Amino acid sequence: MSSSSSSSLSNTRSQTVGIPTTCWCGSKLTTYGAQTKENLFRRFYRCKLGIHRKTEHHLFKWVDEAIVEEVNMVDAKHNQLKEDVDSFKIYTTQHLEKQAIQFDKALIQLNSLIVDKDTSSGTNENSTIATKDTVQSPNQPSDANNSRAQLINIAVAAIAVGTMAWIYAKITN
Ligand SMILES: [Zn+2]
Repeated sequence: MSSSSSSSLSNTRSQTVGIPTTCWCGSKLTTYGAQTKENLFRRFYRCKLGIHRKTEHHLFKWVDEAIVEEVNMVDAKHNQLKEDVDSFKIYTTQHLEKQAIQFDKALIQLNSLIVDKDTSSGTNENSTIATKDTVQSPNQPSDANNSRAQLINIAVAAIAVGTMAWIYAKITN
C-alpha cells in the first residue's frame, strides 16, 4: 500500500478502476503528457476542463496505471470464465454419465420385453438367446409390459430433450 507518486492530485485518484472513459464532470477524457521533472512525458487521462481549471477536482489517472488495472480486471474475468467452463464441463459429464446409465437400463428392460414377446409368439430361431436374456426379468408378457416399455421410451426421450435444452440454455447464457 505505498503510493506510487507524489502527485498533488492523489486524493482524487483511484476512484475509477481500469481505463476511464469520462470524467466525473461528464466530459470526455483525453490523454496528455506530463510536464513535471518526475514524470516527464508520462501520459495521463484528463478532461479539457480539468486541464484549464487546475483548482477544480477533475479525474486524473496515469495511463500506464489504468492499463495495468484493466489487464488485471480482464485476467480476473478470464479466470472466472475458465472456472465456469470447468465446472460446467464437470457437471455436464456427470449428468451425461447418469443419463447414459439410465438409458442403458431402459434399453436392457426394453430388450427383455421384446424378447419376452418373441418367445410368447412362438416363432423364433434364436430361442437359446431369448431364454438366456429373459432370465433377468419375470416372464410375464402382457399389455401392461408393452405400455411400460412405451413409458420408458417416452421417459428416455424426455430426459434427452431436457438435457439438450439445459445445455443450450447454459451455452447461450
Ligand atoms: Zn472533468
